[in-house]
Amino acid sequence: MSDLETRPEEALCESSGRPGPRADFFPAREVPLGGVRGVTVHRSLPQRDLPTVGAWCFLDHFGSGSPANPEGHDIEPHPHIGLQTVTWPLDGRIRHRDSVGSDVEIWPGQLNLMTSGRGIAHSEYRVPGHTSGHGLQLWIALPGDKVAVAPHFEQHRDLPEFELPGVRGTVLIGALGGVTSPAMAYTPIVGADLRVDAGTDTALPVDPAFEHAVLVIEGALRVEDTEVAPGSLFYLGSDRTEIRLHDTAGAHVLLIGGEPFGEDLVMWWNFVARSHDEIEAARNDWESRDLDRFPDIAGHPPEQRIPAPPLPGLHLKPRKRRIPQP
Ligand code: MN
Repeated sequence: MSDLETRPEEALCESSGRPGPRADFFPAREVPLGGVRGVTVHRSLPQRDLPTVGAWCFLDHFGSGSPANPEGHDIEPHPHIGLQTVTWPLDGRIRHRDSVGSDVEIWPGQLNLMTSGRGIAHSEYRVPGHTSGHGLQLWIALPGDKVAVAPHFEQHRDLPEFELPGVRGTVLIGALGGVTSPAMAYTPIVGADLRVDAGTDTALPVDPAFEHAVLVIEGALRVEDTEVAPGSLFYLGSDRTEIRLHDTAGAHVLLIGGEPFGEDLVMWWNFVARSHDEIEAARNDWESRDLDRFPDIAGHPPEQRIPAPPLPGLHLKPRKRRIPQP
């Protein structure tokens, strides 16, 4: 997924310590990505007052195409820096190609993790005969001492699963429910897909050093004491040893968490960095087709690419956590 927002805001996300237990809703916002197909996504991260959950810095729920193009859409080559992208399709198929030579189909239930290091480019296309469906696209910020790791792509087709009474979990990254994902992580982090059965009342053990948040994909349930339904990210803060899931007729849930990210981030378009200058340099390298940083993708002619939007002329504004007081 590319952040195709036509006027992306530049945001400086300040670091922060452990927030303690919380119970706050952060509504997803509809983001029109522009282009001829008029694609809209529901974005749960970053939030103005909650730029990150652990190192998770971006969370989009993308849908299956517009009425004019029900099969979905192709996303042409575009760059990333400073992050890992996580693609978690819920249905449909996507063909992923990138500048480290990957050319794979992405199916539901398989984790697709692309680590940009200082630069990678990729495209995401429909698969003939299939819709591109809907799914989740997340970004994980790389810590400052790992932003220059070699770019690489991982596909994990056999993720570890766990069972608790009434809960079946698939661990995308990190560890939960006694199992650990093989996905490469650079910070203490967790991400899991949870299927919660009707009538469940189960406490999911979690790491109290982590902050956590829940996105309900389908259905509804009570998380601790709060009814949670699709449309908002429910932020739980840190210092919990378990998260109680109950009072449901069945729900499909994404859980994300991690140690609060201890570095300031500047995010703009498809880039995660530490300063305006780094963002500007990456933009220039993409626009000038610097092939050392962003090699061509096999199968795409050089002119087939998403141009970077213009940088905003405004000064950066710090984006601090402003979690409402109880
Ligand atoms: Mn992308």
